[in-house]
Amino acid sequence: METLDEEAFGAATPVQPKFTSHSDPASQWTAAHKGPAYFAYSANYMIDTDNAVILDVEASRSVRQAEVGAAGTMIDRITNSFNLHPERLIADTVYGSALMLDWLVEQRGIAPHIPVIDNSGRKDGTFERSDFTYDPADDAYTCLGCKKLRQFRCRYKVPRSGANKDGTMRYRARKTDCDTCGLKTVCTPKEPQRKILRSIYEPSRDVARNITQTIDYAISCKLRKKVEMLFAHLKRILKLDRLRLRGPCGAKDEFHLAATAQNLRKLAKLIPTNKPISKNA
Ligand code: SF4
Repeated sequence: METLDEEAFGAATPVQPKFTSHSDPASQWTAAHKGPAYFAYSANYMIDTDNAVILDVEASRSVRQAEVGAAGTMIDRITNSFNLHPERLIADTVYGSALMLDWLVEQRGIAPHIPVIDNSGRKDGTFERSDFTYDPADDAYTCLGCKKLRQFRCRYKVPRSGANKDGTMRYRARKTDCDTCGLKTVCTPKEPQRKILRSIYEPSRDVARNITQTIDYAISCKLRKKVEMLFAHLKRILKLDRLRLRGPCGAKDEFHLAATAQNLRKLAKLIPTNKPISKNA
């Protein structure tokens, strides 16, 4: 039962799963592959993109928070075990949460080659947050009407840092500015004044956003296919589309054995043999 309190197997998210397996409660009920739902664990790989060698493996529950936590665990473990300090982490959008990006940039000094999870887009055609320009020196946004949106601090509800409990800061325009603005109908038609939320991790998110504009990022997107190929190989060649052992320990053992087999196969290809290979062999 203690395993369920580990971040990788239950404590990663407070959300109650729809169903819990009585024989394997640490597994996750998931329909992530758009087919019939099933109980599953996730295999998380950390690979060296130069040679596609697997550096570390971590089993986790199949939820985003647990998978993100597994990436952090593996980065620390390869640093401690192999004295390897990655310059960049290439990953998909699952790992693009503000907290993860900030951990990489501020605490580990690793460049995040990861798409940012950004829910600030609007579907009603009104101005999005990206239409406003942030000035760090002034700590204010400037709207398309050239007016300033400054941080809103409620004396009773907001702690001194200016951030809400969810880690966001609120910026708002002056009501008098919006009242007389000709752009109000496409900016904030239903509210008396425009408000914008800014994450306290926005500087790290900006680092990740800037990286996505570089050529290195385009190269990273191609390199990311190497880990996808390993997962495809895991299912199609090693036939690990179903676990034979039960529980987190069983999942860990099977994932480690499979990764070992994949690495041995890779090393056999990398190490040059002296014997010429016969065409008829
Ligand atoms: S409605 Fe307010 S925030 Fe929006 S563009 Fe006009 S002045 Fe700026």
